[in-house]
Order: sequence, then C-alpha cells, then structure tokens
Amino acid sequence: MKIAESIKKLSTESAFKVFQRSVELEKSGKKIIHLSLGQPDFATPSNIVEAAKKALDSGYHGYTPSNGLIQLRNAVSKDALRRYNVDVDPENILIVPGGKPIIFFSILIFGDKNSEIIYPDPGFPIYKSVIDYTGAKSVPLILDEQDNFEINVDKMISLFNDKTRLIIINNPNNPTGAFMKKEKMDKIAEALEKFPNIAILSDEIYSRLIFDNQEMPSMLQYPNLKDRLIVLDGWSKTFCMTGWRLGWGIWPKSIISFANKLAVNDHSCANAVSQIAGIEALKGDQEEVKKILKEFEERRNLIFEKLNSFKNVECFKPGGAFYAFPNISKSNMTGDEFATEALETYGVALVSGSSFGNSAKNFVRFSFANSKDNILKAMEILSKMVN
Ligand code: PLP
Repeated sequence: MKIAESIKKLSTESAFKVFQRSVELEKSGKKIIHLSLGQPDFATPSNIVEAAKKALDSGYHGYTPSNGLIQLRNAVSKDALRRYNVDVDPENILIVPGGKPIIFFSILIFGDKNSEIIYPDPGFPIYKSVIDYTGAKSVPLILDEQDNFEINVDKMISLFNDKTRLIIINNPNNPTGAFMKKEKMDKIAEALEKFPNIAILSDEIYSRLIFDNQEMPSMLQYPNLKDRLIVLDGWSKTFCMTGWRLGWGIWPKSIISFANKLAVNDHSCANAVSQIAGIEALKGDQEEVKKILKEFEERRNLIFEKLNSFKNVECFKPGGAFYAFPNISKSNMTGDEFATEALETYGVALVSGSSFGNSAKNFVRFSFANSKDNILKAMEILSKMVN
C-alpha cells in the first residue's frame, strides 16, 4: 500500500497516550491519580441527561439537518445574545460532534501549500497537527511565561505577512490556564483590524470556566472582525459533556457554506439525542454549572498554593479552564522526564509541556479535573520527587 504523504504529518494529543499508559499501569495493580485528561470529573447535570432520555423515547433516532437542529441553533444564538450581547444569525451557526471539527474545518478551509497559519505555543496540539496535515506552514506564536502566557501583540504582528491566512487564538488557554481579560482582547482586536486579509479562529471552549468573577470577553464582541471571525465553543467542558460529542462554530457568512459542506462530507450531522440535550443545557437550570465553577476555582487555589510551596517548582496563577502549568526547570528534569517519573515511579499522571509546543519543554500540565482529596494526595506524593 502507498499512503498519502499528508497523512504522515498528522500528530496526536499526548494526554490520551498518558491516559492509556495510566490505565495499563492500573491494570497491573498500580494506583494512579489522574491529572492528565482535560475532562471534567463530574457527571453531566441530571436535567440534561433526562432531556436526552426523553429525546430517545420520543423518537429522535434519525439524521438531523446537517448544520444542526434549528431549535438548537436558536438556543446557541440566544446564548451569544445573553452572554455577549451580540446578535448571531442561526444560519451562521454550525453544530458539530464536539468542538474539534471546528478546528479541523477552519484549518482545512484556509490551509494549503503556500499559506501560513499562526497558532499558540504552548497550545492545544491539534492546531499544529492539522495545519501540518494541510501542507500550510505552521507558525508558532510563542506565549511567554513572562507575559503571563498572554499574547504579546507586537510579537503577533511581527509574524504577519502576505501568506498569513489564519490566526488561532485560544482564551482561556489550554495548557497554561492563562486568561486574557477584555483590556488585552481590545488590544489584540485593534491590531487585527489593521490586517483585513487574515481570518481568525477564536477557540473559546473554556469560555464559562473563568475564575475570580472575571468576565469572558468573546471575540464576537468586535464587530469589525465579524466578517472573518470563526468562534468555537461547545458543551464538553461547561456542561461536563465530553462524551456526548457536541460543539458549535459561529462562522462568517462568506464561508459558512464551505463549513456546512465539510460537515455533510464528514459526519452528516451531530448526534440527534445530544442535540436535544444541548438545548436543555443552554436553556435549562444553570445552578449546576455555577457549582462546578466554584469547585474548579477552589481546586485552582489549592493546586496553585501547593505547587508553589515546592522548592523546585514555580507556577503562575491560572485564570480559567482547569489546568496548572508550572515551570519545573529548577528540578533539573525536562518536562518529559518529570512526567515520566511522576507516572511510572509515583503514580501521578500528568502531561509534559513538550506535548503543547517547543517553547514548553520545561513545563508540565496538571489538569485539576480531579477531587481536592486526590489533588492533595498527588501533591504529597510529588513533594518527595521535587523537594
Ligand atoms: N479546544 C481546546 C483548546 C481544547 O482543549 C479542547 C479539548 O480538550 C477542544 C478544543 C475540543 O473539545 P471537544 O472535546 O468539544 O472536541
């Protein structure tokens, strides 16, 4: 067999590899504390589960329109109005199985051999993987620890040239947990306004996991960018629905038809039952979401304090998502060595920074999607390794 060259350029998400290895170790009798996967450890709120059960009983067994049920797209549109005071035409919304297809489709639409796409480094590994797959040049925008892992606007502008087609922004950021407030987003948006040929993918999948009562500034709130802005959001993280595979993209009018075609070619439509559940998630009671956020914030405080109490670890304070991303260079281990030692010797699963880009080799990512008790236990165990 001769396979296509392009497919060899796809890479993967190491968090899943770490998870697999953890499960193997568990099977062989080792106790593991899981701080690797980016998946809330809570069950999906019961009102959402009930809505799904009802959907099954009332016959939602077939295909839906490829871009998603209109009731769901209306609910997403209302959500944008409620949270960001922005009008979104439901025809510009595409419902997909998880947030990931929005990344895939955006990059497929803009990436080809003579183009460049800018992505955050450290960042979600799927961005670079798919850019490389398309043959476009993947251009890292380094997020520096000294800038609190926020975008440095001058650095961003210095990467722009005639070949730049798309820039990917992720706020709050995976893996750093960095959260850029409105003042920062204003500056980024103002700079982007001067480059009208560059499209923007704003990955806002953690938009409702923001700490310290801060408000999420969505890229949707900058009308001058509207015609070349794609916004990714979804149910996975906010509503603990990673396995339901449901996400959305808000697209400019000029390219939504390509995204819709990709959907038809790829998966026909998102799961019908999940879509009904997605309506309940957006329109139903939000108390559970508030409780979950509070719990994540308490965990953030705990892990931040514990990590910084270690002699050889320094961690900046995450403002959103559920990740802590400490610098471990003083431990005299690389992130890879640190993560391997933590898992194989101490039974704590976490992910090396190198999985998120070349700039992050001296970091590791802790996902605090695990109980405070388990986080405390993991910190106690790791103190033997790093002190
Ligand atoms: N974007 C970022 C930054 C993520 O961290 C993730 C998941 O970890 C996704 C997108 C994809 O989310 P989903 O599970 O909804 O496909």
